[in-house]
Amino acid sequence: MCGIVGYVGKEQVAPILLDGLSRLEYRGYDSAGIACMENGTIRVNKAKGRLQVLSDMIDGGNAVASTLGIGHTRWATHGKPSDENSHPHMSQKGKFAIVHNGIIENYSEIKASLIADGVQFASETDSEVICNLLEKFYEGDLLKAVKKTVDVLEGSYALGIICHEYEDRFIAVRHASPLIVGLSDKGNFVASDIPAILSYTRKIYHLGEGEIVELTGDKVRVFNSDLEPVIKQAEEITWDVKSAEKDGYDYFMEKEIMEQPRALHDTISPRIDDHGEIVLDGVHLTREDIEGYRRIYITACGSAYHVGMVGKYIIEKMTRIPVEVDLASEFRYRDPIVDDKTLMIIISQSGETADTLAALREGKKRGARILSIVNVVGSSIANESDDVLYTWAGPEIAVATTKAYSTQLSMMYLIALYMADKLELMAKEEIRTLLASLIQVPELVEQVIETTRPQIMELAKQYHGVEHAYYLGRNVDYAVAMEASLKLKEVSYVHSEAYAAGELKHGTISLIEEGTLVVALAGCHRVIEKTVSNIQEVKARGAKVIVVTTEDNTGVEKVSDHVIYLPKVKELFLPSVEVVPMQMLGFYLAKERGCDVDKPRNLAKSVTVE
Ligand code: GLU
Repeated sequence: MCGIVGYVGKEQVAPILLDGLSRLEYRGYDSAGIACMENGTIRVNKAKGRLQVLSDMIDGGNAVASTLGIGHTRWATHGKPSDENSHPHMSQKGKFAIVHNGIIENYSEIKASLIADGVQFASETDSEVICNLLEKFYEGDLLKAVKKTVDVLEGSYALGIICHEYEDRFIAVRHASPLIVGLSDKGNFVASDIPAILSYTRKIYHLGEGEIVELTGDKVRVFNSDLEPVIKQAEEITWDVKSAEKDGYDYFMEKEIMEQPRALHDTISPRIDDHGEIVLDGVHLTREDIEGYRRIYITACGSAYHVGMVGKYIIEKMTRIPVEVDLASEFRYRDPIVDDKTLMIIISQSGETADTLAALREGKKRGARILSIVNVVGSSIANESDDVLYTWAGPEIAVATTKAYSTQLSMMYLIALYMADKLELMAKEEIRTLLASLIQVPELVEQVIETTRPQIMELAKQYHGVEHAYYLGRNVDYAVAMEASLKLKEVSYVHSEAYAAGELKHGTISLIEEGTLVVALAGCHRVIEKTVSNIQEVKARGAKVIVVTTEDNTGVEKVSDHVIYLPKVKELFLPSVEVVPMQMLGFYLAKERGCDVDKPRNLAKSVTVE
């Protein structure tokens, strides 16, 4: 989720680690720490808060006499931001220290078995199991202990590992979380991101999935997950720091769109266990609780509100409990009917959105149970909720949300299926089948990005001059249209509106004229014919129509100017794949118009005023 830097060589390591970590500060983090080999023992310094706090503790790094170390900035996923939960983590007997980026999905089972072996844990993190597994498996061969450890781990991890018996080397591992190796005459590096080491070297290796690296000051050996040697070709990085921060993309928004498959995987996969059952850590709703709810309110702002709009369709369909979706800024000023038979689902990326927090407090005062979906661990909304579900999207920097929206949406599926399961409204087998499809969504999103991106870039070139756009759809297509429209207007400043496709003719159709851009979302099979009729209505009035639909609906070509085809997907999960080309359309159109995409005018990332 956040940052790793490691170095071994001729130079004093701590100032290098602090400098490297400072280059990753732009991503946001909640704590920082380093572990260095000092006179045959591992020295750890770490602290909650800014990097400056850590730097002051160790005199800018000068206080640590060492030339080998690993450093970390943490973006909490498991356990609040605190000194204890900061990385590096040390094994119980002090033999290993590790830094970890990512999520260990099976950490609860591992932790339970280590506790049974007598291990005591010092933090609430998922990561601490890693150093204790290393200590358990170590029998004098470092690489073997690493292999045995990673064989047990499930989830995503980039690791830096130091062992007290080795003053000249450290190990790094990459699995579903980025990690690179940097090579120089003065020593060798690992880093989660290129900017961390760019001022020391431009010569790097990209590590492949499951690769394990052993670094000394003058040698780097790379192995596959079976410890067979891998020959790597070094690459020369030509990017400047600014494009390195964005992984070579021009904007964070684009980088974050591309990160969605991983963010979705990290959010969904730990919630489905090996038996195909849902595990919602942090949610303690019983069957009796759910049966007792007369109404569910989903309360949020902006894109999170649009997630709620999709959520309404899904949750009502699966649980038959009425769902109202409320704008947080309106909720408390309209005397809502809320009591202890109400479940409120609160959605906020930052967990600090002022309107949403105020709505939460209002709902709580009136007796509602609060279940929140947030991206930032330990945020105000998380702290004040009865149940919390974290989206593990990682830090989102672009003001216009993409990966936070997508991961929030995946939570809606999980909550709906969790409740339907508890209420026994669906056969176990049916739920398992749906979960098996949900787990495929990250791959589908990846496929959609790959197949639709070139076409969308072309469309953006063709239509970047438009002044108005209308997004149409029915059912969940309408809910996605709302988000698609917001995406376009917030970053490109093109005026746009989303309409329930059947509603347009009740007034707004008067605005359609020759050349008006209409984007019709027509993935929802049950209503596709109705949507097609509405497309014909705008086409007849001269609109230029882009239709978004699944690949089996070739019939829509007759009524459209362009069709964006998506892979066939279970209707329930359609919004997850449909929204992605719409995010790209907003982004590329804004880019064509020369807009400051990451920082659109008048907008802030976290809206902490009412
Ligand atoms: N899951 C780990 C934690 O919560 C690592 C977070 C990160 O990648 O920064 O400590």
